[in-house]
Amino acid sequence: MTADLVILNASVLTMDDATPRAEAVAVEGNRILAVGDAASIRALAGPGARIIDAKGATLLPGFVESHLHLFSGAYGQTLLQLADVQGFDAMQAAVRAFADAKPQEGLLFGQGADYEILGKGTRLDRHVLDQMCPDRPLAVMAYDFHTLFANTAALTAAGLLHGRDLPVGSEVVMGQDSLATGELREKFALLPVLELRSSGGREMLGMSGIEPPVPPTQAEWREDVDVLKAGLRFCASKGITSMHNMDGNRHLLELLRMVENEGDLIARVSVPFHYTREMPLSELDRASSMAADFTGDKLTSNRVKIFIDGVIESGTAAMLAEYTDRPGHKGEPIFDAASFAEAAVAIDRRGMQITVHAIGDAAVRIALDGYQAARVANGPRDSRHRIEHIEMIDAADIPRLADLGVIASVQPLHAPQGESPTTRSIGPDRARQAYPWRDLHQAGAVVAFSSDWPIVPVDPLLGIQTALTRQPHLPSLPDQRLSLMEVLKAFTCNGAYAGFMEGHTGKIRAGMLADLVLLDGDIEATPPDKIAEMGITLTLCDGRITHEA
Ligand SMILES: [Zn+2]
Repeated sequence: MTADLVILNASVLTMDDATPRAEAVAVEGNRILAVGDAASIRALAGPGARIIDAKGATLLPGFVESHLHLFSGAYGQTLLQLADVQGFDAMQAAVRAFADAKPQEGLLFGQGADYEILGKGTRLDRHVLDQMCPDRPLAVMAYDFHTLFANTAALTAAGLLHGRDLPVGSEVVMGQDSLATGELREKFALLPVLELRSSGGREMLGMSGIEPPVPPTQAEWREDVDVLKAGLRFCASKGITSMHNMDGNRHLLELLRMVENEGDLIARVSVPFHYTREMPLSELDRASSMAADFTGDKLTSNRVKIFIDGVIESGTAAMLAEYTDRPGHKGEPIFDAASFAEAAVAIDRRGMQITVHAIGDAAVRIALDGYQAARVANGPRDSRHRIEHIEMIDAADIPRLADLGVIASVQPLHAPQGESPTTRSIGPDRARQAYPWRDLHQAGAVVAFSSDWPIVPVDPLLGIQTALTRQPHLPSLPDQRLSLMEVLKAFTCNGAYAGFMEGHTGKIRAGMLADLVLLDGDIEATPPDKIAEMGITLTLCDGRITHEA
């Protein structure tokens, strides 16, 4: 037994409670050969082995990014970026420069926009977008991907200017003049505009669980595979070795298989089937066949993603009490309790993991009730169903996650930092029930952290910093932060557990897969507000170096 790679003089945080610390790690092939002190590990190095002196820097299990949208994140890097743009003049300049650079593009598409990009208390509409771009379709996605703002040309081309009846949860917002204002809420309002894009919006089909209506051409396959490879390289540069994609269809799995066949699948990727309200339960056959066809140690399925509600900002999150800033409005769930329970029982019976988006406390309750119904109907099993986001949860529901073995998959960067439109909707009386991660952790739920890229940057170090520095958004609220070790677990072994991979990755232990990340400093000695400035020296996935600074 000889190692091909040894890392010496590291501060190894193994995430393994039995032996939490070490100073060196040896890797042989795609496995961790040994973990221990520098002298014994150095002795394992074979001739020609690579020897890395970490100089005291932190070595962690590779980060598990438990919630992201790889395809749209990767594709989004080619779009008009508005995350750092504020004010009319700056936005207009960005739009015009992008339009000049893309003379052939069917839809000028911006993303990452703040809801108040033009200033506090403002809202985008078609008129202001027409001022920036009167002659070509322009649409701007809010940073959370739940609301799209379109100009008149885009609304006209999409056939939405005079409104449209849409399924529950989606809305073309209408103005006093009986024409669309330009604000489009949720999927079915967004899709007609997104279809104007020259790409046809292929990277977003997985959000609706549909396959490309027209088979992509050879050139489109090539383009998409290359976009995914660039996205994977970007994630590796952030120390990520496993990712749970949160939208999916068979097409994405096939694209990723092509990436794998070309030797470039440099992370473990799990892709769900996206089940929607409109689908009959028989559509779950597609989920089962995806699960059966993708069972590698890198590329897997066996998971179903469902949206139970929308987001607080657009009033589409389903709440138990009315929004403070919208009297009488609680938000409609996309799935009511009975229809979600029916779906949960059917999916659970197929042996698949269920992952639901539930932001409002009414949606979270529907999720928990559905998981409970599945347990009653099918008997208890190690199902590890998940709830994504949990921005509001009733106090009575908090212990139910641990009772039902449900994973709390939450995003540090989604918690408001100070007052915001979100906190105004929640209001002070119910603020105690918002983003209560420490409460969930203390009640015994497995808490997994992630980004939700491209809604926020995909960067676990930024996530760690944000989790450690989060302040209550009202002074009266308790501290909901976790400790550094708990936060690191939420980005490593807890994510591995959420993905049924805890026996293989997420901890540094002999025999486990060699998924590792070496930072450029000692994270325990770094002030929490400086962690995002740390660099990634080396990422190793499956024993292979996938990033090196
Ligand atoms: Zn998401």
